[in-house]
Amino acid sequence: MSTAAISNWSGSRTLAGTFLAPTALDDAAEAVARSTHVRVAGSRHSFNDVVDSAETLLSLEHLAYRHPRLAVPASGDAPPSSVEPQLDPTTGLVRVSAGTRYADLALYLHDRGRALPNFASLPHISIAGSVATATHGSGRGNPALSASLTSVELITADGSRRTLADDDPSFDGARVALGALGVVTAMTLRTVPAYDVAQSVYGPVPFGNVVDAFDEISGLGYSVSCFTTLRDDEFASIWVKRAGTELDGTWPAEVAGGPAMSEAFHPIPGVDPANATAQLGEPGPSWDRLPHFRADHMPSAGEEIQCEYLVPRPNAARALEAFRRLSEPLAGLVQVAEVRSIAADTAWMSPMYEQECLAFHFTLVRDTPRVAAALPHLEAAFGPLEGRPHWGKVTAADPARVRPLYPRRTDFLELALGLDPERKFSNDFVRRWVG
Ligand SMILES: Cc1cc2nc3c(=O)[nH]c(=O)nc-3n(C[C@H](O)[C@H](O)[C@H](O)COP(=O)(O)OP(=O)(O)OC[C@H]3O[C@@H](n4cnc5c(N)ncnc54)[C@H](O)[C@@H]3O)c2cc1C
Repeated sequence: MSTAAISNWSGSRTLAGTFLAPTALDDAAEAVARSTHVRVAGSRHSFNDVVDSAETLLSLEHLAYRHPRLAVPASGDAPPSSVEPQLDPTTGLVRVSAGTRYADLALYLHDRGRALPNFASLPHISIAGSVATATHGSGRGNPALSASLTSVELITADGSRRTLADDDPSFDGARVALGALGVVTAMTLRTVPAYDVAQSVYGPVPFGNVVDAFDEISGLGYSVSCFTTLRDDEFASIWVKRAGTELDGTWPAEVAGGPAMSEAFHPIPGVDPANATAQLGEPGPSWDRLPHFRADHMPSAGEEIQCEYLVPRPNAARALEAFRRLSEPLAGLVQVAEVRSIAADTAWMSPMYEQECLAFHFTLVRDTPRVAAALPHLEAAFGPLEGRPHWGKVTAADPARVRPLYPRRTDFLELALGLDPERKFSNDFVRRWVG
């Protein structure tokens, strides 16, 4: 047990709770049974109070799988034990311990000819934390990682074990669970045959050209990301990631007036691209192209705060114009902002529940008071367009506006109450946004 203050990855906030990182699942179950309030920290890449606990804050980092190529201790104390994932070669389903990161799972799968269908921008984030908050990558055909989930293994409130699977009608409630159902110890995910991806970066592209041709641009590849600093009226770079048969075609010489870059580029203009994934149309395994950042490098010192809104696709044109108008209120705060597309899914608490969305993501400077003062401008821009804040990022949205945007919210609450009548796994965040 550690009473030392534990911060999130970016160092922007201290997590509430007494930190405990057991080296055996039985110890985790015992800690749950004897606590009144429990939350689990994943890789701590969230920026708000979604993780916080009024009492025990468990970490499963010592029970996570580390691929030998990336094996670095998760923290200074005990080295993590290797909990090998289990791949069923017939069904392609993989069972993985919850604290495992995208990158470690991706390399394990790669060694066996399999892959995840998509990736977040950063491969260092844990699988369970990503699933819990509807973490997503980009691509009109690509839903959030939680859509790949087929079962989840939990330690419930009394310390006993329980498995929920997708043949249960309430399983869509367990996909994006915000940590409120119990301690997730392992998950089973669908995988796909390994595939190559190549990416080419274009820019700069005038902002108006992107607004006019957004549908066309977002259809240029398996995954497309548009980056801007909002300082000039342009997108500094558009990242087109192609997969499968898309690799057979020739690359366009330009996208919406932006020429293909002839050198590697970092999403933040001017930053050394050494830690960005390979570009210039060079094919490589999907795990080494779909994330923007390389698995074997740390992307930055973490000096940032993130905010993001998911806006229903039909509101895309108005949302892009509202985004453009944020240039002035966000002056001096934006390191980079990114627009992505995400497919609809069926998870009750997913912002993409039954609707395709556009994600407006902001990497802001790590200056909490200035960011807090700017957040109402983002809410004013995207709130009227039914924008849902990303569950792991900061926002000034009013829960009273957001709750009705989740038509299955009360079903989720019922599921949580059924599994955890004393609300041991709830916290202020869950009470505020869910009930
Ligand atoms: C540099 C950076 C890049 C990012 N890129 C993207 C991106 O491309 N797309 C995107 O959508 N988001 C992105 N995010 C946001 C990030 O994916 C989410 O905040 C995600 O939840 C972080 O996962 P984590 O493991 O760090 O979880 P944490 O922040 O540790 O926890 C998040 C939630 O998961 C719960 N949780 C974690 N593990 C368990 C468990 N075992 N059992 C029960 N509950 C659990 C926690 O209780 C909490 O509610 C990024 C964040 C950073 C810092």
